[in-house]
Amino acid sequence: MAVRSITNAEVSGKKVLVRVDFNVPLKDGAVADDTRIKAALPTIEHLLKNKASSVILMSHLGRPKGQRAPEFSLKPTAERLAELLGRPVKMAPDVVGPEVEQMAGELGAGDVMMLENVRFYKEETDNDAEFSKKLAALADLYVNDAFGSAHRAHASTEGVAHHLPSYAGFLIEKEVRFFEPVLKDPQQPMVAIIGGAKVSSKIGVLESLLPNCKTLIIGGGMAYTFLKAQGHEIGNSMLEEDYLDTARSLLKAAEQKGVEIVLPVDHIVASEFAENASPEAVDSVDIPSGKLGMDIGPKTIAKLKEIIGNAKTVVWNGPMGVFEFDTFAGGTLEIAKAVAECSGTTIVGGGDSVAAANKFELAERMDHVSTGGGASLEFLEGRTLPGIAALQD
Ligand code: AMP
Repeated sequence: MAVRSITNAEVSGKKVLVRVDFNVPLKDGAVADDTRIKAALPTIEHLLKNKASSVILMSHLGRPKGQRAPEFSLKPTAERLAELLGRPVKMAPDVVGPEVEQMAGELGAGDVMMLENVRFYKEETDNDAEFSKKLAALADLYVNDAFGSAHRAHASTEGVAHHLPSYAGFLIEKEVRFFEPVLKDPQQPMVAIIGGAKVSSKIGVLESLLPNCKTLIIGGGMAYTFLKAQGHEIGNSMLEEDYLDTARSLLKAAEQKGVEIVLPVDHIVASEFAENASPEAVDSVDIPSGKLGMDIGPKTIAKLKEIIGNAKTVVWNGPMGVFEFDTFAGGTLEIAKAVAECSGTTIVGGGDSVAAANKFELAERMDHVSTGGGASLEFLEGRTLPGIAALQD
């Protein structure tokens, strides 16, 4: 279901409370990576251009666990935002309370104000109704642009939406626009590439995508549990014994639904899990004893490239190997390139595949790179995200 878009909101003359995701890394009291702040600019600039009387921003930063903690202050983000916007950003001394109410009341045309870290209050994560009301009382409209927190029912992401007309900012709108069809009616053939460490953390995604895709590629550490379930030798590769039955059921379900499951047919292995381990190519599905699979091999890469090249929709979540170690990043790099070159709709969701796309400088060439790790995983699992549900009719 589509979300109410900011483009349909009458913002002129209104005070707008915007939930952004400024949970950025800090170094020496300054913003070390401003990607998330830059990502919020289109929504903030849209509001200012359309004559919102003022824009009040709120976010969390780190985990201050309901306590005021200066090292988790959002002040550095307000300073960086002011530079990017080319206009001052007032820093509120708190999230709620008389001082903040007064400051909010005195905001003039086009003023921008940043509230303190919402997680200075445990009422935020408790989704406390009174706290939500206090936040809502600061403004006339609510806009949520923090997809990364949309899977949490917190006061700033969900509670506040019950008290104000609520809209999705451009970031959330784009996430929904790309992710929703994947679960409903994707352009076929759809290929899902699911990798990463564990079957246990991806089983929900595998089961949810299975009915909609033509081909399901399983790579990374989780592939070995599937290979073992098929009766192959996997040496010392990553294995989740408890998930062998789950893997067998998924393979069976795929067969019944006519979905092609593609697992690695060759490997790059090592004798130990280490950055400086020597890579060895194994030209068979089976892995010799004493060795562990660290990456997909060249035959697998060639096979996957062909499948991805013919796809109309590609969803990629999780690396194909231990991409953090350069020696074992080749498979993930080649698959990232294939996704970037695919002429169909390409969606990268989940923390580590986004990190991989960024590492290889290919993110710009994807149609959509999700801004939320846990949130995109839950979205792909077909779960209702409370922060999104609050923006739907
Ligand atoms: P996830 O967060 O579940 O997407 O998992 C990402 C992690 O999976 C990365 O840290 C990778 O290093 C790891 N990974 C990928 N392939 C393997 C493998 N063959 N063996 C062990 N870990 C792997």
